[in-house]
Amino acid sequence: MPDVIILLFNRDLRVTDHPALQQACQDARQVVPLFVIDPAIPPRGRAGFLIECLDDLRASLRERGADLVVRRGNVVAETMRIAAETGATAIYTSGDVSALARKREGRFRRENIEFRTFPGITIVPPAQLKPVTGDHYKVFTPYFRAWSEIRWRSIAETPDTIAMPEVRPGDIPRPRRRPHLPGGEREVRRRLDLWLRHCLRDYAAGHDDLAGDHTSRLSPYLRFGCVSPLELATRSGASEEFVRQLCWRDFYAQVALAFPGLPREDYRPGRREWRHDKEAEDAWREGMTGVPIVDAGMRQLAAEGWMHNRARMIVASFLTKTLGIDWRVGADHFEELLLDADVPNNYGNWQWVAGTGNDTRPNRVLNPVRQAKRFDKDGEYIRRYVPELANIPTTMLHEPWRAPSPILGYTAPIWRG
Ligand code: FAD
Repeated sequence: MPDVIILLFNRDLRVTDHPALQQACQDARQVVPLFVIDPAIPPRGRAGFLIECLDDLRASLRERGADLVVRRGNVVAETMRIAAETGATAIYTSGDVSALARKREGRFRRENIEFRTFPGITIVPPAQLKPVTGDHYKVFTPYFRAWSEIRWRSIAETPDTIAMPEVRPGDIPRPRRRPHLPGGEREVRRRLDLWLRHCLRDYAAGHDDLAGDHTSRLSPYLRFGCVSPLELATRSGASEEFVRQLCWRDFYAQVALAFPGLPREDYRPGRREWRHDKEAEDAWREGMTGVPIVDAGMRQLAAEGWMHNRARMIVASFLTKTLGIDWRVGADHFEELLLDADVPNNYGNWQWVAGTGNDTRPNRVLNPVRQAKRFDKDGEYIRRYVPELANIPTTMLHEPWRAPSPILGYTAPIWRG
């Protein structure tokens, strides 16, 4: 039995259903729970949320007799330094899919230490399902079918106690700004219980209702791994519609693993030419396009660091299909502001909407007027986020050409009919 194993946290900031942590506790006499803040990867709008997640994780580890060791610097170099200091002979971590994460895993494998990755970031590990031809599923429906038919791993046990060698814990930095949402595993467990008890039953019928806000809003917690997606799927198993959404997350993870260029290159190349229009881009970012449903979505993003999925689809379709602006412009803005932004989901969904990704109908355009009439029938969502339209009658709210619009002259005729 090795004396010491390092458990390297990344975006799995929890102690429940954490296979790498469970295995480290079984395999070694002592475990060093470690998180390295890499200054080369700015957490953008997510810094405050991340810090609260780390505070909460430290508290959970302290309850179990250990601590969270925090260092700042290059992840591989700092981890190897801790290994030298504690005599650790192995590093365990949750396997991840982005190009950056894989490069880091490659570097660890070249070090003179045992390095093992474990499941936990997704429900089904991204390399586990393969189609008959090709190295990954390019289309969601057959993936969902295969995903629904296999057996999932069992939930990992949460360790009661964790023995740890003497190591200086290190400070967690203080946030400059409070996050839009409180971070951490304890917070998400409270939210999860409420969601399962009171809201899940409305999900299938209501998840597209913009004003109703019937989705779980758990995405930032899934992004940082404060909750295990497997636990979430297992506990909400009665709602196929909800579990299906979680499957989308697994789907994009296996796309990102197979196609590391996802954040920058067209997944299906040669589909489109993009326009440069600084004025239109700025109007879109600021929620000042004059198209009420688009502006409402963009302002929700700025105000909350989160946007309803239906609104994300509408604003992304508007930018790429209606304005003809490159999906990278939109995805990078989302990446900057969303609490839940991660490479597979953000760039995978953007490419899907732009028609360069996994959509089997790449030319579909979401007409924002029809979308608003259907998913914000009474204009409540628009009024909530665009206060200057609060007193406009609903019929007028849905008609963009009657509202003031800096870029209206360009956009209105496209869907007027
Ligand atoms: P719920 O409806 O409660 O769904 C539960 C969980 O399922 C979500 O938390 C999420 O983890 C997963 N999920 C739901 N829909 C999708 C989907 N289409 N793709 C992948 N996973 C999904 N989601 C992110 O987590 N990060 C992103 O950066 C992101 N960027 C997006 C960009 C665009 C242009 C679009 C159209 C969608 C994007 N999504 C992203 C997917 C989706 O909008 C969010 O996951 C969802 O709105 C989060 O809210 P929720 O937790 O209430 O979702």
